[in-house]
Amino acid sequence: MKKLIVLVLLLMTALAAPLVAQTPPRALIVVAHPDDESCFAATVYQITHNLGGIVDQLVITNGEGGYRYSLLAEDLYGVALTDEKTGRAALPEIRKRELLDAGRILGIANHYFLDQRDVRYTQDVDEVLDTHWQKGVVEPEVRRRLENGNYDFVFTLFPTPETHGGHKASTFTALDAVQNMEGRRPVVLGCQDAKRDAPRQPSWTGYHSPRHPFSSLPELYQTDRAVKFGFNDGLSYQIIVNWMVAAHKSQGAFQAGVSGYDLEQFVVLEAGAERARERARGLFEALAARAAHPKGVAPTPAPAEAPAQH
Ligand SMILES: [Zn+2]
Repeated sequence: MKKLIVLVLLLMTALAAPLVAQTPPRALIVVAHPDDESCFAATVYQITHNLGGIVDQLVITNGEGGYRYSLLAEDLYGVALTDEKTGRAALPEIRKRELLDAGRILGIANHYFLDQRDVRYTQDVDEVLDTHWQKGVVEPEVRRRLENGNYDFVFTLFPTPETHGGHKASTFTALDAVQNMEGRRPVVLGCQDAKRDAPRQPSWTGYHSPRHPFSSLPELYQTDRAVKFGFNDGLSYQIIVNWMVAAHKSQGAFQAGVSGYDLEQFVVLEAGAERARERARGLFEALAARAAHPKGVAPTPAPAEAPAQH
């Protein structure tokens, strides 16, 4: 009898475990620009490398508007990228190559490009949706990808009022697409990077407009880029993030500030997914459980006198 009770208890524990901890997660990144994946770079790397999950990336614009930051890359590519006409013509192809390099580092399986125009910096989301992007094209394309991809999660940038209109527009488009899709809906997560010791933490007050109603669930999830592992605990996920950022060489200023962020923080953006909070919690618990042991490898014990590092 005792054995039976133990068996039933074991079975109940197994059934109660979060689904995402048992099956490798599938996620789609939906962003405006090639390089926006930096916000969740360590999270994506951990999903693909530590959990054996699949992450795809959908980029809505061609990134042509980034020519102003390309001075240092002009010699590298042999193109006068900071000349607006030249830069806008050459950057879409260059930035695709850079994104594929970054994607190889993060383990991204497939990239999808919608090649919408990246016209200019504006905080006006409606300008982007009404005049920069082709109307009636983007949301159905995102929805079609979601319906074909069987994703558990969608990664987006959290739509604060002061962020780039393209970032807000891509997040609202992802939310609309999830709400309109047939079948099982993925959980939409909004990301912001944070500094562990900074007195000013990111505000989670989102941008609202009558055309883009949006709410976020208050629970915060995070990935710590600074988790140590490997020989002498000398490695961390910050190294991966820096590799990824360095792949985007045409975006000069982007390289400068990235080491300062050590946390990737997320909230669930409400789009009607079932058990959204529970699924998100399960993902980040599974990631945290494996973070210090990438690929399931236990940390190498350091010898008594470790050789100097070169
Ligand atoms: Zn961007």
